[in-house]
Amino acid sequence: MALTSGLGGQLSIDLGALARNWRALDKVSAGALTAAVVKADAYGTGIEQASKALHAAGARFFFVATPDEGMAVRAAVPDAHIFILYGLYPGAANLYIRQNLMPVLSSMSMLEEWMAKCIERNEAYPAAFHFDTGINRLGFRLNEASLVRESIEKLGYAPQMVMSHLACADTPNHEKNRTQLALFGSVMSQFPGIPASLANSAGLMTGRDYHFQMVRPGIALFGGRAVGGRKNPMQPVVTLHVPILQVTEGRTGESVGYGATYTLNRNSKLAILGYGYADGFLRSLSGTNPRPGGKVFIRGKHCPVIGRISMDLTVVDVTELGSDLPTPGEGAEVLGVNVSVDDQADAAGTIGYEILTSLKGRYSRNYVGDGNIPE
Ligand SMILES: *Cc1c(COP(=O)(O)O)cnc(C)c1O
Repeated sequence: MALTSGLGGQLSIDLGALARNWRALDKVSAGALTAAVVKADAYGTGIEQASKALHAAGARFFFVATPDEGMAVRAAVPDAHIFILYGLYPGAANLYIRQNLMPVLSSMSMLEEWMAKCIERNEAYPAAFHFDTGINRLGFRLNEASLVRESIEKLGYAPQMVMSHLACADTPNHEKNRTQLALFGSVMSQFPGIPASLANSAGLMTGRDYHFQMVRPGIALFGGRAVGGRKNPMQPVVTLHVPILQVTEGRTGESVGYGATYTLNRNSKLAILGYGYADGFLRSLSGTNPRPGGKVFIRGKHCPVIGRISMDLTVVDVTELGSDLPTPGEGAEVLGVNVSVDDQADAAGTIGYEILTSLKGRYSRNYVGDGNIPE
């Protein structure tokens, strides 16, 4: 769907920054293995390119949500160890085995099906076990731990890893982190000697207690803010410039956009961007008079979105640029060093994850750098 003419918007994905982010996290988690979570098309950056760059940087363990994503990583990185967070799809065990994908088993029915396949083929195919320690999503319940242990013990099977997932890691002082850590400890005591994994990006940044044998960062690799209330130490990976189609004028008292939700309170210069919600510019970044919306960066200044974002077009107020107005064809930075993913997320009332995974627009995509960065 992306246009390849090079006309129009340009999404640039810095694989060198991605690789440096992985290395930086790998230093923080020294002593534990640092995996890479590349679900949802590697947080919108491209699962194939991102996986290759992460592998070149040193990553060997990859987490994805679906078996299809797992196959995409397998094709890009033949020697990867790949975990499927959705677990085992009913009837899909043969596919997982053929593709050498490890399900993250989270229910007794998944476990039974995987064990049945191991018995049928007389081979202990690797899998991880996921226990729910308080987020109430996927996972064996805590009271199933002994049942799980007994059912594998009698087969002489050992999981590759036992994992859980934190609900409040983005808030390091949240008491739920300690609670989940303690509950995870009690689960692990039932699986002595088995590698354990608890931390996502934020958990990794929260401290050693959370690292165990493997950490599973996603968002931080892609430059997003994992932990609130402190400076984000990661490098931006994504830069998006969209084209300015027209620069025009509006007069005091006139309205802008559908629904006339914004009224100009001065004679204004307006830049019309070839970029809208169909390209992933969330409509919640629209600006009304009482509530400012998103900002874009043009000629060295942040310029506010005014009026509703429409499907293909967005209007920004460039009056503050004075006589230094942009010309048609020039790019406006929507994401990058001057407008971070999290700036845009905060303005939209969402999280960087949603901004990144909404990158799907009518712009061309280029990859700069690669994972082969100096140590
Ligand atoms: C998505 C996901 C991660 C990565 O989380 P980030 O917050 O992006 O670092 C880790 N573990 C599980 C189980 C996940 O679903």
